[in-house]
Amino acid sequence: MPRGFEYQRQRMVEALRSSGITDTAVLEAMAAVPRHLFVPAQWRHQAYAEDISINIGQGQTISQPRVVAAMTQAAAVGPESRVLEVGTGSGYQAAILAAIARFVFSVERIPELAREAKKRLDAFGVSNVSIKVMDGTLGWRAQAPYDAIVVTAGAPEVPAPLVEQLADGGRLVVPVGPLDHQVLTIVERRGRRTRRRVLQEACFVPLIGRSGWKEERR
Ligand code: SAM
Repeated sequence: MPRGFEYQRQRMVEALRSSGITDTAVLEAMAAVPRHLFVPAQWRHQAYAEDISINIGQGQTISQPRVVAAMTQAAAVGPESRVLEVGTGSGYQAAILAAIARFVFSVERIPELAREAKKRLDAFGVSNVSIKVMDGTLGWRAQAPYDAIVVTAGAPEVPAPLVEQLADGGRLVVPVGPLDHQVLTIVERRGRRTRRRVLQEACFVPLIGRSGWKEERR
């Protein structure tokens, strides 16, 4: 395809590079993973617009490529990293992390999304991701500690169980703030101490669970 998805993906990667994504591993992963196959067919034409989040059903979204790249870069994942992702959604962020890290544990609270994401990753031959349906605000204790934890839904506060599950030197990247507006927050663990800094503004769907927002009951 002359101006097909591969061309669009390369353009997206160039735009990400120009906007300050410098980590080569992140750029290579974004160049390799076919984002258009993680979005519903009717939105494929928008798959490589770096600032567009797309509906994936169940009231959820796949985050903008710019945000995926910024969060992955902030997580500073390397080839030996064990990573926890909270909020599998389409499986796209998991695929990006899996292209860089040794192993990715990804948790999702909506079974239908987890099932579809697993099918997708299996179809691409991604074998270093394990997906589980559970409340990710509590982490995945049995597999801890993690070198990096990436939370892809907005939390009212930094979930304490996730900080506890960080390895020494590990980093948690999580959007924190009110429902309509968060800041991407990085929590770094050094021994028993943690250091917090803020990366950029963001707007995510809510992180719903015991250490997140309460589910609305009507
Ligand atoms: N990372 C996803 C991707 O690449 O497509 C996008 C994630 S979407 C912005 C946020 C996801 O977090 C939704 O699929 C939502 O169901 C999930 N979620 C919300 N609260 C959760 C929780 N407590 N545990 C696990 N997943 C949760």
